[in-house]
Amino acid sequence: MTRAALAIDLGGTDLRAAVVEATGRVAAFASTPTDAKGGPDAVIAQMVALLGQVRAETPEADIVGLGVGAPGPLDPDAGIVVDAPTLVGWRNVPLAAILSERLGVAVRLENDANAAALGEWRFGAGQGTQSLVFVTVSTGIGGGVIVDGHLLHGRRGLAGEIGHMAVSERPVRCACGGLGCWEAFASGTALAREASHLVASGGAPGIGRLAGSDPVTGRHVAEAARQGDGPALQLLDEEARWLGVGLTNLLHLYSPERLILGGGVGSLLPMIQERIRRTIGERAMAAFRDVPVVQAALGRNAGLVGAASLMLPEAS
Ligand SMILES: [Zn+2]
Repeated sequence: MTRAALAIDLGGTDLRAAVVEATGRVAAFASTPTDAKGGPDAVIAQMVALLGQVRAETPEADIVGLGVGAPGPLDPDAGIVVDAPTLVGWRNVPLAAILSERLGVAVRLENDANAAALGEWRFGAGQGTQSLVFVTVSTGIGGGVIVDGHLLHGRRGLAGEIGHMAVSERPVRCACGGLGCWEAFASGTALAREASHLVASGGAPGIGRLAGSDPVTGRHVAEAARQGDGPALQLLDEEARWLGVGLTNLLHLYSPERLILGGGVGSLLPMIQERIRRTIGERAMAAFRDVPVVQAALGRNAGLVGAASLMLPEAS
């Protein structure tokens, strides 16, 4: 028998399930589009069905429990999803208790970004460290903080909302309703916004050609930059500078051994690494400047593997 945990990654778009062995290996995987409008009962039924599927593929696994990564805010101790903005009807849902009763296994719940941080720490780019910050940059900016060998939770499990630290007095509105958040300047959405302004003003014809009649995205900018397009390189330079500003704050706050960058924009790290380093070099206190900024290793599996690690014996 191989020791393993069940895992769920509850997203607003996709619902994903896996059996994850104690080594971090994904032994079985299944996913389905989340019935986001169906309410908790419908989605919980989807979870039970997916878990049945992956369980059937791994009859030899000795299942120690189920770890669930779900959108925050949530209460990890009580196992309650407090309010999932991308899912209809998810208010104060005691998800851990419900799943535990249905499946007859112990269940632990964690914020999805924290789960991904745990995954990278235990099995990915953060292995061997005691302190790290995981930063995922895509539509928004999320993350998780590991300090002195444990995940930082804070009051009501809300610590580590790194995308919403204020980095500018410029009144740019963030998706959270705040002004000047890091996410409003450095997310993939922010990059796309700057790029589409530039295209609209005629300043980036190369990006405009790639996008055609579609809305301009960060992907178009990256593709143009790879072809050496000047305005695209300029936009990525600005993106990297904003990332460097926020990463410098994270260095000063948490003194991690490593900063781990994931998400769609994180995957561009080889193209923007140099500028990020330069920004950190200019802004961070000398003692922090040598901390490596590395790319996440687990991709989309980070959340699943991290959720499973909540139940695996050596989990923190
Ligand atoms: Zn915000």
